Amino acid sequence: METTEKDILRGGQFLVKETKCEDVFTLEDLNEEQKMMRESTKEFVDRELWAHWERFEKKDYAYTEECMGKAGELGLLSIAVPEAYGGMGMGFVSTMLVCDYISGATGSFSTAFGAHTGIGTMPITLYGTEEQKQKYVPKLATGEWFGAYCLTEPGAGSDANSGKTKAVLSDDGKYYSITGQKMWISNAGFCNMFIVFARIEDDKNITGFIVENDPENGISLGDEEKKLGIHSSSTRQVFFSDTKVPVENMLSERGNGFKIAMNALNVGRIKLAAACLEAQRRVVNEATKYANERIQFKTPIINFGAIKAKIADMATNAYVDEAACYRAAKNIEDRIAIREASGNSHQEAELKGVEEYAIECSILKVAVSEHVQHTTDEGIQVFGGMGFSADTPMESAWRDARISRIYEGTNEINRMLSVGMLVKKAMKGHVDLLGPATAVGEELMGIPSFETPDFSELLSEEKDLIARLKKVFLMVAGSAVQKFGPDLEKHQMLLMAASDILIQIYMAESAILRTEKNAKRFGEEAQAAQIAMSKLYLYRAVDIIQQKAKEGIVSFAEGDEQRMMLMGLKRFTKYTNQPNVVELRTQIADKVAADSGYTFD
Ligand SMILES: Cc1cc2nc3c(=O)[nH]c(=O)nc-3n(C[C@H](O)[C@H](O)[C@H](O)COP(=O)(O)OP(=O)(O)OC[C@H]3O[C@@H](n4cnc5c(N)ncnc54)[C@H](O)[C@@H]3O)c2cc1C
Repeated sequence: METTEKDILRGGQFLVKETKCEDVFTLEDLNEEQKMMRESTKEFVDRELWAHWERFEKKDYAYTEECMGKAGELGLLSIAVPEAYGGMGMGFVSTMLVCDYISGATGSFSTAFGAHTGIGTMPITLYGTEEQKQKYVPKLATGEWFGAYCLTEPGAGSDANSGKTKAVLSDDGKYYSITGQKMWISNAGFCNMFIVFARIEDDKNITGFIVENDPENGISLGDEEKKLGIHSSSTRQVFFSDTKVPVENMLSERGNGFKIAMNALNVGRIKLAAACLEAQRRVVNEATKYANERIQFKTPIINFGAIKAKIADMATNAYVDEAACYRAAKNIEDRIAIREASGNSHQEAELKGVEEYAIECSILKVAVSEHVQHTTDEGIQVFGGMGFSADTPMESAWRDARISRIYEGTNEINRMLSVGMLVKKAMKGHVDLLGPATAVGEELMGIPSFETPDFSELLSEEKDLIARLKKVFLMVAGSAVQKFGPDLEKHQMLLMAASDILIQIYMAESAILRTEKNAKRFGEEAQAAQIAMSKLYLYRAVDIIQQKAKEGIVSFAEGDEQRMMLMGLKRFTKYTNQPNVVELRTQIADKVAADSGYTFD
């Protein structure tokens, strides 16, 4: 059945509209073709990457390049590329699937893969002219050429539009001369082409260019950066000195570079989240195997509650992250299809589809990158001293995970973006926050109901709680907007707290909807551990939301208003039946231990 405009939520609308479990896409909904692709990606990873993880630790850059070439031969670089340019032209879910399963073995390869297929290729497929696409994209799709993306400069990181790299038009109007210094450029050491952002004259915004890598044309590289992790991902400075770029290699229009850069990053963010999923699963698998085998005090350490709690939390994070990533991925895919059906070109449709869900992309980037960090950290802890040893893959997994909180926009920037974009959407009338926020305000003044609700149906209390958590966000963010207006962006600590509430709501709701959908079709018994994971995550989310909301409320409300909001917070976060978290964690860990790893994907 064709998905229509009214069937799917717009970006950010999850906060004010109820989503039915039937309307979310889950990993359990993959079709046969997608499942086969997942299997072949896993096989590739096991054979070429996982089996040689030590080479990636020894800064074997050549091996990363070799593996990228092999991925190209298998077609893994061309999933998202339209067929007209030599790609497979598969949907957004398939793109996410490959990003996910290709990224588990080593952050070095996933960074190289992400930089090439995402920010290195997407600006051309999304913004290139027909000639540019015909000339470059087929080579990038097969891996004959590799791409890199040059935005960051020594003085322009998070403030990406402030770069000093200059592009000067020649007297004959045939080419631009680019001069400047780019920093932290992934794939710089082996790429054939750069997407470069530079400023023309004193333009307010930067402009994008496609620049072929030719050392004879004023392009030189710094040494490989010495990094905490992703040791075999090539990261170098790139210097452009009077580098001549034909005018036809300008991307889109003059001054459109910042927009291109940001939209490429939107797609990059959700893919980066996907790229942190398999890493989590593999760490859970390794930690579980180790805990099952490691004997202390005459018993496998998996039998200790302290270890079970870790395994349960690690598995739960992975499960929740899968739920949220694939939910958003399918929303994007559907939105692209709707746009194409209404006459947009594929290029335009894809651009608008991803832009629509930019809030969700930021949410996922932050949540999943922080989960993979936590999971790898606990992975080390489960391994004890061996976890600290470079002879086990835990140590490198932990170091590799760290970068995800920094690139594709730091987590601080993405936190601010998520709330900022939501407020902007509300102002434009794309998401009605005002109506629901006013209703929450009225509810706060009213007398609460003292009836005992009927929560006998599976996950009904959890869904009710999610609806109330949304009210917490509306209460805190709504009052903050009223109080500070456009000055809200100066109140960063408040924005951070609000975004944490937003993030927890999206992640917890996604898990609950995935589980509800699966329990309906596969039965409650088959989903016992998944039900436990959804409940456990929500419990943790409620804790975080209580803390962050309180932080916000006391920062801007006083006296009666403060008391009323704190009472509202209590009401909106109240459990009728407190979950037994010890029991939930035990149940989850026992299932993971019995299966010798993560088996929920
Ligand atoms: C291994 C690696 C690979 C990379 N690959 C690429 C690549 O291929 N191409 C590319 O163009 N770039 C790349 N980058 C650059 C990366 O995107 C930047 O490092 C990142 O955007 C942060 O910029 P910065 O390092 O200058 O930090 P800064 O912007 O200086 O930030 C420092 C700290 O201040 C915070 N901060 C900054 N501004 C604000 C603000 N307004 N409000 C609140 N807090 C703020 C940040 O969150 C951070 O915690 C890579 C970086 C690394 C480390």
